[in-house]
Amino acid sequence: MTKHKAYLVANPLTPGQAVVIDPAICGGCNSCVEVCRTDVLLPNPEKGQPPIVLYPDECWFCASCVEHCTTGAIRMVHPLNQRIGWKRKATGEYFRVGMKNPPPPNNRPPVGGWGSKRARTDGEECG
Ligand code: SF4
Ligand code: SF4
Repeated sequence: MTKHKAYLVANPLTPGQAVVIDPAICGGCNSCVEVCRTDVLLPNPEKGQPPIVLYPDECWFCASCVEHCTTGAIRMVHPLNQRIGWKRKATGEYFRVGMKNPPPPNNRPPVGGWGSKRARTDGEECG
């Protein structure tokens, strides 16, 4: 029987990041890999290291990985064209979903929150 080798090759680089994992917070359990339904994340072959974000352009932005991670190491990076903007007629001010401290009534966080759970408590802005 002929043996064949299979390789996983990353998609060509795109501006989209989809999700970012903070290696300083990540415990390296790699369990978020099992949660992702589109296999954006791959387990790191090095034990205890964060998963590899190999196919960010296939992310659905479902935030399942963000909600799953108990350490809060994952944050979503929504593409600019998904951060819907709106303009306040009275003042001409322009706002965008995902911005820090948006004014009411549109102050609900985007799917996946404003950033990682830790960043949210630190008040850091979503990337
Ligand atoms: S990001 Fe969270 S769930 Fe994923 S490997 Fe790191 S600690 Fe585990
Ligand atoms: S947001 Fe959803 S599709 Fe994207 S990496 Fe996380 S689990 Fe996978």
